Amino acid sequence: MNETQKFDVIIIGGSYAGLSAALSLGRLSKTVMVIDSGNPCNQTVLKSYNFLTQNGNSPKQILEMAKEQVLAYPTVSFKNDKVIDLKGTDGNFEVRTKDGYTFSAKKILFATGVRDVLPKISGYSECWGISVVHCPYCHGFEFSGKVAAIYADDEAARQLVNLLLPMHAHLTLISKNSDENFDFGSNVTIIAQAISNIHHLNGWLNSITLENGDVLDIEVLYTDPSFEQHSHLPGSIGCRMTDKNLIYISSDLETSITGIYACGDCTSLMRSIATAVASGNLAGAIINKALSKAYLMEMLSDNKPAV
Ligand SMILES: Cc1cc2nc3c(=O)[nH]c(=O)nc-3n(C[C@H](O)[C@H](O)[C@H](O)COP(=O)(O)OP(=O)(O)OC[C@H]3O[C@@H](n4cnc5c(N)ncnc54)[C@H](O)[C@@H]3O)c2cc1C
Repeated sequence: MNETQKFDVIIIGGSYAGLSAALSLGRLSKTVMVIDSGNPCNQTVLKSYNFLTQNGNSPKQILEMAKEQVLAYPTVSFKNDKVIDLKGTDGNFEVRTKDGYTFSAKKILFATGVRDVLPKISGYSECWGISVVHCPYCHGFEFSGKVAAIYADDEAARQLVNLLLPMHAHLTLISKNSDENFDFGSNVTIIAQAISNIHHLNGWLNSITLENGDVLDIEVLYTDPSFEQHSHLPGSIGCRMTDKNLIYISSDLETSITGIYACGDCTSLMRSIATAVASGNLAGAIINKALSKAYLMEMLSDNKPAV
């Protein structure tokens, strides 16, 4: 068993949000351990869009470049591992990893992301992030003018139709609560059915089969799967969650537990690399400020004359 290494900050999750926070902290010479289990939510995507300077690069390329730049700072360390336990209080936390390591730190940052819960439809997961997609900002432009369908209900269906209609002459909305709620005019065909099969070649959609046996030829399917927290750790140690199943954070990105912060997708419905990087950047600065304040107070109390 290793001797416990001590850091200013342990960042749990080393993807876009976590690495961005590590960059801010590393540039201020804070000692940081980033621990990452290597499963970012966009890992099936071939080309990622809508992040300035990296438009069209693969998620892997973006992460590799990010890691290389962040790890150039000598106080930042990175470990491929999974955090399975966290205990302690502000100023003295300890984490334990799946591979049996323990590390301690003054502050903790969760950048653990979320996990999409894909419906059990044959072909769905193989096409996920390629031609079955959830975000028009990320993948809409590349499919403009193509034969598109939306598979969603309620407000998500309404939002996807509104965003996509200007880019498609016609849309098919497949929705179980279609009849009562929706009227989008003649450019949107509404079908009250479920999808039973997705037919594709290497993730690129050809057609879908509905539960009634009808087959629709389509090239892209927009959907709105539910999600869960990627890590159960924040919930299990008592971090407050919001009614949307996100980690609750204050305006200072601190969770309901003092000294534990969170950033990126695990805290926000606005899921994009740019947003994750921005919140990681902010988290790094806020944590650095808290550490600097504690350092100053320690110094002042050390310098007080004895009475
Ligand atoms: C299919 C799909 C396509 C997308 N396409 C785009 C796009 O084109 N453009 C765009 O801007 N955005 C896109 N996004 C959104 C973007 O991927 C996310 O907003 C972004 O990945 C969030 O970054 P994050 O760091 O918060 O979380 P993630 O990238 O999900 O990373 C979380 C990390 O934490 C790790 N982790 C979790 N628990 C633990 C633990 N206990 N111990 C250690 N590590 C842990 C995970 O393994 C993972 O590496 C897409 C998302 C999906 C699902």
